[in-house]
Amino acid sequence: MARLGIMGGTFDPIHYGHLMTAEEARDQYRLDKVLFVPSGHPPHKPESSVTESKHRYLMTVLATLTNPAFEVSRVDIDREGITYTIDTVTDLKALFPHDQLFFITGADAILEIITWKDAHRLLGLCDFIAATRPGYSIEALETKLGALYTSYRDCFHFVEVPALAISSTDIRQRVRAGRPIRYLVPETVDHYIRKNRLYQED
Ligand code: ATP
Ligand code: MG
Repeated sequence: MARLGIMGGTFDPIHYGHLMTAEEARDQYRLDKVLFVPSGHPPHKPESSVTESKHRYLMTVLATLTNPAFEVSRVDIDREGITYTIDTVTDLKALFPHDQLFFITGADAILEIITWKDAHRLLGLCDFIAATRPGYSIEALETKLGALYTSYRDCFHFVEVPALAISSTDIRQRVRAGRPIRYLVPETVDHYIRKNRLYQED
């Protein structure tokens, strides 16, 4: 039984925060592979404000190329309509029925992902690895998760990531303002953004 990490995201664009989180989770939880899953239409972001999935997919491929344990999945991009985490995890469980799945996410995003509607089904399919800033209070998150945490304590794991301050929103604003994004994203992603003139206007 392989241990498979799932890193879902808009990846608009992918950055070193995402990559460092996936690598740290891989190392600390002995994951055999991390699958990056660029989103189709995220439920909380209007479609027009998100870059074409073709570009987000290709940047994710470029960024993950040099890590033999990283791969990119098209399950969300190729699905019609709005995608929820439960759909992603259900599809990947069908593709990899014998693997143990670990959904990797930012600690703050975990409360948005685990909506009460799907919580029990979701936690029956995968574990969660939540990325926190060093010094972040895990107790505060446990309190917010409440009864869910008490019932599924063994399904929640944590990983400290120093690069957590990096955000795609900041990177898009930097490009628009003509400021550097070097050292925030892999060089190939920087080149891809310039070549395709992404993030030039609102
Ligand atoms: P945006 O600024 O557009 O919201 P983002 O930088 O938050 O983008 P997403 O694609 O929305 O990136 O995030 C994908 C996943 O990665 C989410 O689970 C999110 O919590 C997590 N994440 C985002 N930024 C970081 C970071 N710097 N370090 C670790 N995890 C991150
Ligand atoms: Mg975000």
